[in-house]
Amino acid sequence: AYDVLVVGGGPAGAAAAVYAARKGIRVGVAAERMGGQVNDTMSIENYISVLETDGPKFAAALEAQVRHYEVDVMNLQRAEKLIPAEEPGGLVQVQLAHGGVLKARSVILSTGARWRNVNVPGEQEYKNKGVAYCPHCDGPLFKGKRVSVIGGGNSGVEAAIDLAGVVEHVTLIEFADQLKADAVLVSKLKSLPNVEIHVNAQTTEITGDGSKVTGLKYKDRATGEEHTVPLAGVFVQIGLVPNTEFLKGTVELSRFGEIVVDAKGHTNVAGVFAAGDCTTVPYKQIVIAAGEGAKAALSAFDHLIRQPVA
Ligand code: FAD
Repeated sequence: AYDVLVVGGGPAGAAAAVYAARKGIRVGVAAERMGGQVNDTMSIENYISVLETDGPKFAAALEAQVRHYEVDVMNLQRAEKLIPAEEPGGLVQVQLAHGGVLKARSVILSTGARWRNVNVPGEQEYKNKGVAYCPHCDGPLFKGKRVSVIGGGNSGVEAAIDLAGVVEHVTLIEFADQLKADAVLVSKLKSLPNVEIHVNAQTTEITGDGSKVTGLKYKDRATGEEHTVPLAGVFVQIGLVPNTEFLKGTVELSRFGEIVVDAKGHTNVAGVFAAGDCTTVPYKQIVIAAGEGAKAALSAFDHLIRQPVA
């Protein structure tokens, strides 16, 4: 059995594995895809001390640092079920999709999240070529350009306000007949001179020239009329879905499906910790996930040294 089993190999999981391994205990990492979301990122310019890097490079560096220690790296392994320990201090079990079971005295869940896609033609093709999901990350790439934000909930409206200060012009597209964001955000948005809002607007296509985004097409749901907006970028802001479906019924989740953690990364299950985008901790960013992963590892270690000797 492992002392610490990390489930997920993104920035949170990698940081947790490194911090745990440096305590000289038995550590394993099981991940569907080592590196996590970072693999899908073009350029990263906001990880402190690294002026600029790209996603694949950053992901490779994460894995290399984990492998520098005596960590059992189990890549391409999807966890399907978590079985809490039967008695205090007992072993927690993690069932893998291929049938195996891993046992550990403590588990750190760091399975991350995924952005909900609009699923229109052009979205996949132009990902990282104008189609973006993170205004904090990619906003500055569109300085002086016209962009659109798809989604008028809190995250879409926040993104539009944020981007309006960075880019030339923002067109916000909302499917429903009104913006669903908090009133204070909506009135802030409406006060901005370089923002245009379309409600009742169904995005039908993200257009491009083969190498980058050139615009977006939407249908006015009231009139049926088709419109084309010329743009350099499209920010899709229709929700971030935590990869926690397999934990339903065992670990406490928020109404958004995020694992509920306290300030030390404890979940409601003894010996089970969580970190990164899969948790209730706000602001889904690499630097934050990494910090939370380190914290969860220290909390797991703290938990282990308090267990009676077996
Ligand atoms: P993730 O990176 O999502 O990693 C989750 C890990 O868990 C992966 O290894 C995954 O395979 C694994 N996993 C999931 N489910 C299971 C399961 N059931 N069993 C086993 N393993 C599982 N942030 C920035 O700070 N700067 C940026 O420039 C930036 N750009 C971004 C660009 C894009 C396109 C995207 C999508 C995100 C970007 N982000 C950026 C956000 C950043 O990538 C995330 O905040 C960060 O990766 C979260 O780390 P994490 O370890 O919590 O989760």
